[in-house]
Amino acid sequence: MNSYVTSDFKLGIICGGQLGRMLGIAASNWDITTYVLDAVENCPASKTCDVHVLGHQMNYDDVYNFGKQVDMLTFEIEHVNLEALRKLKAEGLKIFPDPELLAIIQDKGLQKQFYAEHNIPTSPFELYQSSKEILRAIDSGKIRIPFVQKSRAAGYDGKGVSVIQSASDLPKLMDTQSVVEEAISIEKELSVIVARNESGETKCYPIVDMVFNQEANLVDYLMCPANVSEAIEYTCQQIALNIAEKLNLVGLLAVELFLDRTGNVIVNECAPRTHNSGHHTIESNYTSQFEQQIRAILNYPLGDTKIKTPAVMVNLIGEDGYSGPVYYDGFEHVLGISGAHPHIYGKTDSKPFRKMGHITVLGQTLDEAERKAIEIKRNIKVISK
Ligand code: ADP
Repeated sequence: MNSYVTSDFKLGIICGGQLGRMLGIAASNWDITTYVLDAVENCPASKTCDVHVLGHQMNYDDVYNFGKQVDMLTFEIEHVNLEALRKLKAEGLKIFPDPELLAIIQDKGLQKQFYAEHNIPTSPFELYQSSKEILRAIDSGKIRIPFVQKSRAAGYDGKGVSVIQSASDLPKLMDTQSVVEEAISIEKELSVIVARNESGETKCYPIVDMVFNQEANLVDYLMCPANVSEAIEYTCQQIALNIAEKLNLVGLLAVELFLDRTGNVIVNECAPRTHNSGHHTIESNYTSQFEQQIRAILNYPLGDTKIKTPAVMVNLIGEDGYSGPVYYDGFEHVLGISGAHPHIYGKTDSKPFRKMGHITVLGQTLDEAERKAIEIKRNIKVISK
């Protein structure tokens, strides 16, 4: 068995946003040396990794040269130059999750086709080349409004998604290769994170409820445990485990699901990495999602995913109307709330709706945690000085 828990082992992390930052903190607990590739000089992970290499994750040379400096590669983002990863893998570098898995997830069209091929429940869809083609399909009755259009490439945090509720929304169509899928009547948005190591051991986290800020299309609150029946939780976890097996995952997979108004669970999309919907695990579960990713990619036994205490996670999102050096107004008030754990990502400037940090708040019960989360939301504002 390999021992990676030595200062000599170099773990490469592609991109150094908040996920890379928190992964770096978890790695440093085991004295793993972390290298981060990120094009931004003072990116969030630059303060928590050992070596920050400046470079862009979509640039072939940057990724290839970065891979040559480390013993293993992992990611905080799925949009990475695949050709460089394939070359590095062919030359013997361990890359987790596998580049071919990333190839499927990077492209929302291939991702949907993967679900369809493996009988994984997802909303009915078709692939289109352009907005013109979509308009023709509407005219011919092939597409019915309402529907949701998703850009196949690089959609991130709602930016590549157009919800067409009525004909008046048609100017919002994106003129790009896209997935057009049936609009679901959503009762709840749920998420479950599954881990799998090279030996095939798997572990699922308890599922969480995500409550969205409609304007920014970002998660506002996240509640764990989710307020759903055991049967729904079981269904979500079985779906996640099935996807992880079918993808031959090594690492973490966050599976976003919809519970529709008729009680069906369907997959929205997956991310092969740590996820915003798992931040609470740092304080509220036996093993954090970040430590779990490290365990999985190093082929160590996976950690216990049980909940220690109910939790609500509040994203700290830049207030609309403020751009510039960040100021967390009300931070001290939050520190007075029992069980509140702020995580500030270290982004120097706030912008409207930018994710700047999060606060996990614990409670004896979910109700108690929710009450505190509402107080937190009322009292902290991310503004600029
Ligand atoms: P992103 O990758 O940008 O986060 P998602 O695919 O998660 O994009 O979509 C963003 C949001 O749009 C979802 O969280 C959900 O609220 C809404 N949405 C996405 N697909 C559908 C759908 N088929 N029906 C209804 N709402 C949807």
